[in-house]
Amino acid sequence: MEPDDYFSDEDFEVLSRRVRHEDDRKIFAQVFDSKTLDAIQSLANKGLFEVVEHVISTGKEAHVFIATDVAGKKRAVKIFMGQTTLFKKMNNYIVGDRRFKNLRKDRRNLVVAWTRKEYKNLMLANSAGLPVPLPLGVKENVLVMEFLGEGENAALRLKDIEPTLEELEDYREQIIDFMARLYLAGLVHADLSEYNILVLEGKLYVIDFGQGLLLTHPKAKEFFGRDVFNMANYFSKNGLETEYEEMYAKVKARKEALDKKPKK
Ligand code: ADP
Ligand code: MN
Repeated sequence: MEPDDYFSDEDFEVLSRRVRHEDDRKIFAQVFDSKTLDAIQSLANKGLFEVVEHVISTGKEAHVFIATDVAGKKRAVKIFMGQTTLFKKMNNYIVGDRRFKNLRKDRRNLVVAWTRKEYKNLMLANSAGLPVPLPLGVKENVLVMEFLGEGENAALRLKDIEPTLEELEDYREQIIDFMARLYLAGLVHADLSEYNILVLEGKLYVIDFGQGLLLTHPKAKEFFGRDVFNMANYFSKNGLETEYEEMYAKVKARKEALDKKPKK
């Protein structure tokens, strides 16, 4: 997906209605092609949001914006870019996922598949009652979801705060529980780290599910182990000594305990 060389007056017209600030409008015009603009327009027409307010995060692979609906409710809008790094990574993860067996593997198709995968993964995690943003809509390379934050401010990443030891112990419990429940729901995050965890009033929320995979994926167990490793490493680095093997065993024990409970 390459940005178009130029934008028609009509495109700008669409943009100025949907994007509030001049600077952000420029970013839109520079980085998004007309299919992306159409997708934004179509999701907005469904009432998912009215105006794009500003950028929360510009990554290599995706831009995340805060948007507002007619009632003033905030939304997060994540737009995937389809750069080469993502493209390479995507091929790796999508091969082996039975949900994408019949996919035509050109670049745009892969980006769209990746976006849908994040949407589906969020849906699955959400149905299992896990603390993730509720996905609200998806079209092409654009994903709309619940905004996690207070007022205008997005929740901080675990990476950006300095929890006390007591808080870290609590967070470790939350993550063990999260990993166990996600596994029981048949999903592995596969990019779990302090960068993809948001903290809101002492509660952890996990985001960024694009690379998440089903347990049926041949590499699922390997990625699961890596997720545990990354989290154990985070806690150790921050002063709460956490052995990988010990944390792995705790997730497993939690999983087994939850599995035995009679389902409501
Ligand atoms: P990537 O890492 O691929 O750029 P992420 O999904 O991790 O994309 O999002 C990037 C950043 O955008 C996050 O670190 C967070 O600050 C913000 N963000 C993403 N989703 C939300 C959300 N639902 N609510 C609030 N902020 C979000
Ligand atoms: Mn991320």
